Parts: sequence; C-alpha cells; structure tokens
Amino acid sequence: MSRPRPDRRSLLLAAGAAATAPGLAASAPAVHARRRRPVMVGSANALPGMQEQLPRMMDGLEPLDAAIEVVKVVEADPNDMSVGLGGLPDEDGVVTLDAACMHGPTHNAGSVGAIQGTLHPSEVARLVMERTDHCMLVGEGASRFAREYGHPEVDLLTPQAREVWLRWKEGMSERDDRLQPAKPKKSGQLYRYMGEELTLEQLLTTHRITGTIHCSALSLKGELACCTTTSGLSFKIPGRIGDSPVIGAGLYCDQEAGSAGGTGRGESAILSCASFLCVELMRGGMAPKDAGMTVLRRVTEQAQRGAAWQPELVREDGLPAFNLQLYLLSPGGEVAGVELYGTHAFAVADEDGARHEQLDALHG
Ligand code: ASP
Repeated sequence: MSRPRPDRRSLLLAAGAAATAPGLAASAPAVHARRRRPVMVGSANALPGMQEQLPRMMDGLEPLDAAIEVVKVVEADPNDMSVGLGGLPDEDGVVTLDAACMHGPTHNAGSVGAIQGTLHPSEVARLVMERTDHCMLVGEGASRFAREYGHPEVDLLTPQAREVWLRWKEGMSERDDRLQPAKPKKSGQLYRYMGEELTLEQLLTTHRITGTIHCSALSLKGELACCTTTSGLSFKIPGRIGDSPVIGAGLYCDQEAGSAGGTGRGESAILSCASFLCVELMRGGMAPKDAGMTVLRRVTEQAQRGAAWQPELVREDGLPAFNLQLYLLSPGGEVAGVELYGTHAFAVADEDGARHEQLDALHG
C-alpha cells in the first residue's frame, strides 16, 4: 500500500462515530467474538483458488492478497466461460470485464468496468485502489490504465466462446440472413459454466447466461477484504456494466461489520445495494444467513414492483424469474451462502479445509 494505513485505534473511533451518525444503524455495532483463524467464502468456482490459498492464509497471508489470488485462478482459466479469459462476449462479440476489490482495515476500494484485453481485471481494480485517488475506471480509460501499469493486451475471446456467441447470433431471429445449422451440433462437447458442465444447447436455451466469481476473506489477524470479477452478462448490450464493479452492489466490506458479495442478476444486486445491505444488517447484529435472506426478500419485493413495467421479471407464481446468490462473512468468521432458488453450491475455506456447501434457498 502506498498510503499510510490508519492505526487500529483510529479505525475503531471511526467505526464508533459511524454507528452513531444520523441515518445509520442506530444499534450498537455487533460484538463479534473474533476467532483467530482464516476464513474464506465465495462462489462455487472459487474452490480451486481457495484450496491453493488456504495454507498461505494459515501462514498469515493478507486477506486482499488471498481474495485476489483466489479469483485470478478463474480469470486465467480459458475453460470457464463466466469470467476473464474465455468469458462470453457482448452482443458484438467483444469480451468486456468488470472487477472490484475492497479492503476492510482501510475501507478503500477500487474497480474497473467494461475493461478490455486484460487478463487480470482484479489486479487492475487493486491498482485503481492503491495507485489513484479514484474508486472506479471504466472502458477505454480503464484498459489504457492497465497497459500503463504493464498489463499486456490479451485476446480474451477463445474459440469456444466465439462458437457459442455465433450460435447465439444465428438463433436470435428467423428474419435475418444468418442461417441456423440444420441440426444442433452433437459434438458431445461440454462447456464449463460457473462450475457446471453444460452442452451448447443447454447453454443457449435453458440459461440466461451469467457468471462471476466472488471471494471474501478474513485473515489470521482478523482483517477482512473481498474481490469480485466477471465477464458479466453474456451477449449484453455493449457498455453494460453489472453489479460486480459497483461497490455496495457486487461486493462490500467493512472491517467492523463484515464482508459480502454476489453473483447472479446484477441489476437486482444494483437496485437493492445487495452487498452493502448484507453488511449493514450484520452491523446491526444479524447473523450472516439472516442478513442474506432479508436482502433476498427485499430483492423479491423489488422484482414484484418492477414487474409492473417489466413483466418478465417475475414468473407466473409472482416470484422472481432470475436468481441471485449472496455470500456473507462476519468479522467473527461466521459464513453464509444464500440464493433465491435452487440447490447450488458455494465455496468455504477454514480450519476444516476448502469445500463446497449448499446455498440456502429463500424460495426453495
Ligand atoms: N452479476 C453478474 C453481472 O450481472 C453476472 C453473474 O454473476 O452471473 O454482471
């Protein structure tokens, strides 16, 4: 870090002042019994990175280093189509990435939106945090900034992501000049998406394809940090930025209250300030799981209101027609993973090792 970090005493004083500031949680900050052990929580695809970083965390690795190293594994993996290299492109076939990181002890954050040609947007987000007076750089400026700091230009569109994009384009309309293959290809090839193996047909028909990786980390010293990185919504309108680089939406971290991040429909995380709300509810004393479920109830209500304008936001039974997963970590090391629907997994790492656990679903 290039800037002096505030000492522990001033952080505690600042936290106390925040808790009593008008309009913020009136209740006293939750008292968390800090267990001196490293803990990580995140999306299912964070597991391989957590397995690598857990031993280093046991040796005292800083939480921001851990969170970024965890997500970099998937950023660099050409076979994961939800993040970084190999991620699915926008509607023009251009891969644009969003990433952010946040550091609990200094309450600082950095992010990049719609950055192109950069293998590790998570590291560029960290550079924004540590080397500039800004929180967020987007588009061409973010890409140039990455080059200035030595991040080489990389072609992120892999042949398999190009193939999926072309099949999507061919299937968009029957009233254009692109012909769909007479029969769907039965190559048997499977595509890795958010830890699942899917056929091309499953990718294109049963999923509105999204994907992201989040990791929140608590170090041996009890410090928190987090990172989220994504190629965003597949085939998005060029220029669209999701929740992942928006501080408070796709991630948020407060040394005294906790850390949280999300994957899934980014627009719902932005509209609910999902990660900020998770952390603020933990500050008020809620356990991570209760905080996550409370936010998902809020997201459900907002989708129902939004359906007046955009009916496709809800299903026939009135519940959201999309999914959102939230990963929460308290300063005491308690974790939770929640989602609107399903039986998906999330990743946890602590003294019992790195493993998948099942997310708790609000609507079954
Ligand atoms: N939240 C990401 C976005 O909206 C996508 C995802 O996590 O699936 O860009």
